[in-house]
Amino acid sequence: MTAKMYYDNDADPAALARQTVAIIGYGSQGHAHALNLHESGVEVVVGLAPDSKSRKLASDAGLRVVDVAEAVKAADVIMILVPDTAQKAVYDEEIVPNLRSGHLLMFAHGFNIHFGRIDPPGIVDVGMIAPKGPGHLLRSVYRSGGGVPALFAVHRDPSGTALSRVLAYGRALGSTRAGLLETTFAEETETDLFGEQAVLCGGTAALVKMGFETLVEAGYQPELAYFETMHELKLIVDLLYRGGLNFMRFSVSDTAEYGDYISGPRIIDEHVRATMKQVLTEIQDGTFARNWIAESESGRKEFDRLRAADRDHLIERVGSRLRGQMPFLDPIEVAAGQSQASATTPGATR
Ligand code: NAD
Ligand code: MG
Repeated sequence: MTAKMYYDNDADPAALARQTVAIIGYGSQGHAHALNLHESGVEVVVGLAPDSKSRKLASDAGLRVVDVAEAVKAADVIMILVPDTAQKAVYDEEIVPNLRSGHLLMFAHGFNIHFGRIDPPGIVDVGMIAPKGPGHLLRSVYRSGGGVPALFAVHRDPSGTALSRVLAYGRALGSTRAGLLETTFAEETETDLFGEQAVLCGGTAALVKMGFETLVEAGYQPELAYFETMHELKLIVDLLYRGGLNFMRFSVSDTAEYGDYISGPRIIDEHVRATMKQVLTEIQDGTFARNWIAESESGRKEFDRLRAADRDHLIERVGSRLRGQMPFLDPIEVAAGQSQASATTPGATR
């Protein structure tokens, strides 16, 4: 099976000409969508709560900022980019009362539609552009002339214009430069949650920490362990990014390659595969979504405890000091609770 990919020539910007796009939220994804679309010539309005700290950031960046309800009324396309757990309340209170026929309601992740938390009226189009990368990269890659690949889906299309508008949105975001891949809300939601839990965030963080701890507990210097298990990972990932496993294995020594084949499958073994399957099952049957919504709605005590437990891990303290001596890395310190839009605005943190 080969997926059909959509590139610049498959997306006509005319579908968004004379349309206004409301970007609701100005965080990691929000600032990147708003600024990329604006620079691509799309009329953008940012919808934020009256007391939002992001208001100043967005207006300083040259964007029009209004209340959420007003942004929905002014727009033809509405992209919801507040955190997944906050979307239902914002939708119920400020978005749904202002929806009308012709509106295209968009998401960057299928969570709330797929798990039935948001069920838009049948008169509106529902679509998705889900970039396969964090917001700050979506922004910086676009600025340097590239794009972050994205998934897209059309969930409902009463107007008959949803597909062309979703594709035009993907083009304005820069994603058709890298490729858009068609999916469904179900496939995007389940694979996205699985990817971030098993490999990208959860799996990688746990692997790096365990490798670091194993070396330090065996008496090796923490600074050396940091270079070995975290710093150098970027160099390996860059090889994967450009040429896959084959290029990585071509570039490393034969000794490293032999160790890869012999020890890799002992570390990530069949027990890990069974656990991955269990994690996927809990995503598919809604267990993960239910637990996360309950945790979020009951004040996030466990989430805060887990976050605090890792914030000052030895690898973070050692890494922070070493990165401070490598200004060419453009090192960044993230304060507890800092918003992503402020962390990626040049000069905001340095
Ligand atoms: P975020 O955590 O960066 O927050 C977004 C913004 O929403 C905040 O900066 C603020 O302006 C606003 N906000 C926060 N809480 C709010 C509330 N209670 N009510 C109203 N507004 C509030 O969010 P994000 O990570 O950009 O995620 C937005 C969407 O994009 C989600 O659906 C997420 O799954 C999806 N997504 C995120 C990424 C990513 O890299 N972060 C990647 C792909 C898709
Ligand atoms: Mg994700």
